[in-house]
Amino acid sequence: MVPVRPENAYQARLVRLLRDGGARSRVELGDAVGLSRSKLAAEVDRLVERGLVETAGPAASRGGRRSSMLRVAGGVRFAGVVVGADRITVTVTDGELTVLAEVAEPIDVRVGPEPVLGRAVELVGKLRAELGVAQLTGVGVGLPGPVDFPDGTPASPAAMPGWHRFPVRETFAAELGCPTLVDNDANMMALGEKHAGVGRTFDDFLYVKLGTAIGCGLVLGGTPYRGATSSAGDIAHLPLTEDGPSCACGETGCLEAYCGDLGLVGAALAA
Ligand SMILES: [Zn+2]
Repeated sequence: MVPVRPENAYQARLVRLLRDGGARSRVELGDAVGLSRSKLAAEVDRLVERGLVETAGPAASRGGRRSSMLRVAGGVRFAGVVVGADRITVTVTDGELTVLAEVAEPIDVRVGPEPVLGRAVELVGKLRAELGVAQLTGVGVGLPGPVDFPDGTPASPAAMPGWHRFPVRETFAAELGCPTLVDNDANMMALGEKHAGVGRTFDDFLYVKLGTAIGCGLVLGGTPYRGATSSAGDIAHLPLTEDGPSCACGETGCLEAYCGDLGLVGAALAA
């Protein structure tokens, strides 16, 4: 089967609206994207033809001709892959991002990209077989370190030896035959909050992830903000002092050296 994706920015916005907000009437969609009734009908027809959108019965009448409801097509399936420092989690969702199946297992990210990504692809295949998914519509991959977003590659990740510039996006796209996005895990968690969490009602916020490492994702104007070098909001290695505890990055006194898991345990033992 051939993967399908939206053909233009209007189609992408329509699919995003239906994915994030559930079924909507044609009238609501036309208002949201600023398309006339005839232009909207043409774009929706293409999305229906391509199997991304389907009709979902008549909408409540607002007077005049009754509008029909649209939703993401029932056959759309996305996969999410979260690579953590010591764990890999794979999920398959429907078109509105409801989780249909999930599997997780321990892994050491330091063994390098080939074995880790190879296992991730196997786990996606396992879930696809369980659910009978012939073709994925898209895959999102979160990595526990800096990512060059336009390239879809890790960018000098301190705790991931061998991963620098490894073609993660190309690997998944080739193995799974569908569009793939790769991003830093904190950016993805910020997007998750925007989609279904406390960020739903805010257009501008920052998400701080505290754990083994410290991450930070920025959402500005409702969309992720990555900056010119994809590292906007990367606060983990901001120096707080010149002679603080040593950090995984090789420097001393970084925020992460104080507030990451190891730093907190060290401080507790010292106390
Ligand atoms: Zn550091």
